Amino acid sequence: NIEIIFTGRSNVGKSTLFSHLFGVRVRKGKRPGTTIAPNFYSYRDLLATDLPGFGYVKGVSRGFNERVKDFIVHYIEENASRIAAGVIVIDSKAFREVVERWDSRGYIPVDVEMADFLRDVGVEVIVCANKFDKVENGEEVLEYISSRMSVDRERVIPTVAKKGDISGVKNTLKDVLARRGRVDL
Ligand code: GDP
Repeated sequence: NIEIIFTGRSNVGKSTLFSHLFGVRVRKGKRPGTTIAPNFYSYRDLLATDLPGFGYVKGVSRGFNERVKDFIVHYIEENASRIAAGVIVIDSKAFREVVERWDSRGYIPVDVEMADFLRDVGVEVIVCANKFDKVENGEEVLEYISSRMSVDRERVIPTVAKKGDISGVKNTLKDVLARRGRVDL
């Protein structure tokens, strides 16, 4: 079995992306950030996993967020050997502001931390720069994301999940799977 995981802060459009990629409607919690259970999609020997969103959603307790983060970290550590790629979905419009806010408080931004963690456990990182329709200086934004997350520029892929414009990330995942001689999406 081979697996692709999807992670990201809440409200970045991860569920929308996942639905378009795999043609499934994903189950959503009653409110954002209230369920820990991942959504799974399986096709032949490919497992795609939509991990719970994390980050600080209004009205969701800090304790809950910590549990979600623990769950994600344990899930990835346990399954790292079969995980071919980790797709970190970000809001390309909000990214810079969020990163600078965390920087100014002396914290490592969660998306940056996630990219480091995936690399540490040997999982290839793909960044999905979603909500790209909201961005004006596109190339500059993609360069910034690439440098802050230490991910090659060609592994930072703009998408507009809301409009189903996801071919870039689909093709990249196809490449990753083809290199492993696995299923075609
Ligand atoms: P999740 O919490 O990351 O799973 O996010 P959702 O998939 O539920 O999307 C959160 C919100 O972002 C919804 O209102 C979506 O319609 C919106 N959204 C998703 N993708 C895009 C996009 O590419 N552009 C814009 N402008 N909005 C998007």
